[in-house]
Amino acid sequence: DGFAALGIDGALLKATVAAGYAAPKPIQVQAIPAQLEGRDILGIAQTGSGKTAAFSLPILAKIVGLGTKRSPRTARALILAPTRELAVQIEETIRKLSKGLHISTALVLGGVSRGSQVKKMLPGVDVLIATPGRLTDLVREREISLVETRWLVLDEADRMLDMGFINDVRRISRAIHKDRQTALFSATMPSEIEKLSGELLKNPVRVEV
Ligand code: AMP
Repeated sequence: DGFAALGIDGALLKATVAAGYAAPKPIQVQAIPAQLEGRDILGIAQTGSGKTAAFSLPILAKIVGLGTKRSPRTARALILAPTRELAVQIEETIRKLSKGLHISTALVLGGVSRGSQVKKMLPGVDVLIATPGRLTDLVREREISLVETRWLVLDEADRMLDMGFINDVRRISRAIHKDRQTALFSATMPSEIEKLSGELLKNPVRVEV
């Protein structure tokens, strides 16, 4: 029943229910079991559909068991978002869903000072939520390393395209291990996003709500 039937269990299930998520939304029903099985996801979904938990819960489920040994400046999972506002919202949702689970998060955003962002990354984090421009800069300057990243999410990919981030997104994705799991969510599927999906996703499960 509920998220348990989708494969979410233990402390993460408890935290999810405590966060007020009782019944899974359709996008979550479609996307969570496939990601727990290790599949890549191509998701066509709008804001308000519940897509944030759809891509976050499977990642959290896998990270919870990994312990706290992380390399400096690395992120186990990376979520790319087009805007600061969306990135902040994603971090808030993840913190809510993983309350009490000792999952560390960090935000890397343009337009705000880099110092505190770099400092937060020093011990390594479980989940990094970033906008593409600033992350590209910090990776280039070796303040952040993506060598240990095994989960990649592109949220609102069509907006990242509209905002001119597509080449940063490509560059970042190329810096991440091929043996990773990737989810791409977009409200619309213009041909350029289809093309990007073909480049970045391996035999994806297509979910649409
Ligand atoms: P999102 O589309 O991810 O931005 O989510 C839209 C809103 O729905 C957010 O306020 C979430 O907290 C909420 N939400 C997502 N999934 C669920 C759920 N299964 N039960 C209750 N609220 C949810």
